[in-house]
Parts: sequence; structure tokens; C-alpha cells
Amino acid sequence: MKVKNIFCEICSEDKIENFTQFLPNAKVKLVKCNSCGFVFIPQNTRNKIEYSNYRDEEVLKSVRAANNYVRFRRHKLRIKLIKKFKNSGNLFDIGVGWGHFAYTAKKMGFDVDGIEISETMHHYATNDLNLRIEKGSFYEIPIKENFYDIITLWDVLEHLEKPLEVLKKANRMLKDDGIIVIQVPQIDSKVAKIQKEKWPMLSVEHINYFSKSTIKLALEKSGFKILKFKTSYELKLFLMFTVLPLLKRKKNKSTNIEVSISGSERQNFFNKFTNIPKPILLLGLFVHDVVYYLLSWINFGEEIIVIARKQVI
Ligand SMILES: [Zn+2]
Repeated sequence: MKVKNIFCEICSEDKIENFTQFLPNAKVKLVKCNSCGFVFIPQNTRNKIEYSNYRDEEVLKSVRAANNYVRFRRHKLRIKLIKKFKNSGNLFDIGVGWGHFAYTAKKMGFDVDGIEISETMHHYATNDLNLRIEKGSFYEIPIKENFYDIITLWDVLEHLEKPLEVLKKANRMLKDDGIIVIQVPQIDSKVAKIQKEKWPMLSVEHINYFSKSTIKLALEKSGFKILKFKTSYELKLFLMFTVLPLLKRKKNKSTNIEVSISGSERQNFFNKFTNIPKPILLLGLFVHDVVYYLLSWINFGEEIIVIARKQVI
């Protein structure tokens, strides 16, 4: 593989001989930095993704048709985790997405701000959910320094070109005892190790593949001290990215790993599980929570949640 202009965003390594190919049969080109172990899509092979157009009207329709109670319940687990470290305060969510986490945080007593670059998602978060969210790129917005108690990035950092720049900026926004909460796909997780190049998290949209040690290094370099690691397995993503493709391949009698599934199709598939009578739904949610905690407890998952505190020098 020819790689030029390759640069490790975590340890600044830039000598080409210090990178090796990682999972050569994966559908995305990956390299590993021999100096720090960081895995990423090399700069010169990245697709330009226009996040301001991320998600279309079709997905918006299926998101609107989904059951908000289910989302609220799911995000409550995240808030419960945060409340172990901070019971209340100013929270800033980077990459709000549709806004269901921010909405839940607001309902559960936090004063919530955030930023979202996608036009469609920002529209939904501000109009449908009535949230106070800025539209734009986090790199460019002016910030309030020493103002926030909590900053969150749920499945965002793996998309961003300059992860250290983001973490350092977040650090400046936090009060001296502020915390950051990050969830990212974990390249050394059990699921990633089992699935190898077939891991559904390997995607052109994900340019950074953190491990436990490289996310720790990235956070320490940005002025944070790790408080907690937690393994996470999003069962919703499992349904949408593993079960649905399996069913589709079976239906089409195809062995091709690449079946094309639109964002709205994935969301509609998930909606089927949640638009059911309330008693069955409540039982399902209870089972979900038990399974989620159990998997996390035995460290079986594909993502990692990291909680870190700002280091005051
Ligand atoms: Zn490195």
C-alpha cells in the first residue's frame, strides 16, 4: 500500500516506515502507528464527508416515527452514569445528532448546550425537541471558557480529523473540576477482535479507531486524567448493523457482505421493535437494560465509554 502524507494525530509520528497496515482485508484502509498504537484511516485515502448534509429527509421521517420513550429510557442509562460523577450543572454535548441524549439530560436536570453540524439533525433537535443547540463546526465556534461541568461526545470523536484539537478545546471549556464523557468504537474490544475485518464499525466515516490505551494517551495529552472506563454494546446498533444485514442477505440469498441499506431503512427496522404495546415494550426495555449491564460487566462490547477529569496544572 502506498501511503503519503501520513501523520499520527495522537503522538505526531510522521515517518512512513513507522506505520504498518492493519487488517489488510478490511473494506477500509487502516494503518497502525508503531510509536503509540493508534489505528486510523491514512489522511491520503480518506473520503471527504460533507457532514452538513448528513442524514436526509427520509431518515428524518423515520426518526419522527420512532418511539421517543424508548430513546429517553436508553439515554437515562447514560445520565445515571454521569450522575455518579456530577449530579447537575452545565453540560455541553459535542455532535448532538438528533438530540435525544441532550433532551434526556435537560429533562433530568442539567443545563444543556450543544453543537451539531448537520442541517437536518440540527433542525430536528431545535424545532422538534426545543433544544438550545448551535449549528456549525466545533472547530470554529467561539467558546465559553471555564463554564461547563460536563462535556459529552457520544460516537463523535471517531469521525473527527483533529481529535486532540477537539479534546484540548473541550478542556478549556470545562471548569477546573469538570469532566468529559466520551463514547467511541473500541478497536481492541472483544467484538472487534472476534469480527476482525467484518466488524460493522469499520467504515469510511470512522477515521479514528481508538483502543483503551490510545484514548487514554489522547486524553492525557489534552489535559485530562482518566476516572473510569466502561465497555458498551449498543444493542440498537447491533440490530441495525448486524441483524438487519443478516436478514437481508438471507432474503436475497446473497453471501455478499456488502448489502446496501439506507439510513431510513435501518431506523424503520428498529422502529418495528419499539412500536409495540406498552406492557411488552416495558418488559423488552427491562431485558435490554439487564443485558446491557451484564455485557458491560463482563467487558463484552464494541465501544468504550471513558470518563476523565480536567487536570489543573
Ligand atoms: Zn502514534
